[in-house]
Amino acid sequence: MSKMPESTASEKLVIGNWKMHGSLRSNEVLLRALANGMKAVPPRLKIGVCVPFPYLAQAQALLAGSAIEWGVQDLSSHDEGAYTGEVSAAMVADFGARYAIVGHSERREYHREGAILVAEKAERALEAGLTPIVCVGETAEEREFAFTERVLAAQLSAVLDRLSIEQAASVVLAYEPVWAIGSGSSASVEDVRHVHAFLRGQLLAKGAAVGRIPVLYGGSVKPDNAAALFAVPNVDGGLIGGASLAADQFLPICEACTETPV
Ligand code: PEP
Repeated sequence: MSKMPESTASEKLVIGNWKMHGSLRSNEVLLRALANGMKAVPPRLKIGVCVPFPYLAQAQALLAGSAIEWGVQDLSSHDEGAYTGEVSAAMVADFGARYAIVGHSERREYHREGAILVAEKAERALEAGLTPIVCVGETAEEREFAFTERVLAAQLSAVLDRLSIEQAASVVLAYEPVWAIGSGSSASVEDVRHVHAFLRGQLLAKGAAVGRIPVLYGGSVKPDNAAALFAVPNVDGGLIGGASLAADQFLPICEACTETPV
């Protein structure tokens, strides 16, 4: 059996994806609890929360100076102009944001976002100095028909083909099997091991520096499965949905990541 590529990632991340949840009042409680609960983050571990656009200023106000960074869950593929309802990467960067999730499966599915659009969004994020967190993942049906690798390779190559090696080396990749998101059951450690090794190989094929980008796992990560998932080779942290909405779940997940070496 050929040797699987292992993680050489330069850093680890735990990123919360709040999706369309929150209010000024509940966010304040959560953001303060996170900032207080995570006083210091070890070097080469990053913790962040990706909030709905209207709460960017609140995240900036309550997290600035803390160990926790903030970002958004989407952005426009355009720089500026007559694009009603869109929010540009530069606007997001104006609020001190660090991250922009692009290509989340909920946007691919409910907003019909295709691979090229996702690649354009990643490019806009990089141009504005943001770190795009590019999500890839297969549906249950694609998995059932053994199309996982084909689907992931197509989603990933659309992004990598558009970016220079320097740009691609600044991306964060997140493997989020669509069937695991919000289901309460994560992918198995064995599945994650296999898919992350495959993704690492795809990244390495673009260049050594690209091979070192962090690859996160997302899909029903909870305090009780985080340590096992983060210990899998080539898993460099997590993208956390539901469990990022409660400090008593998100903080232990972050803690589990501090215990696995970079
Ligand atoms: C997500 O939507 O990015 C996600 C990982 O959700 P959950 O953790 O709730 O499965």
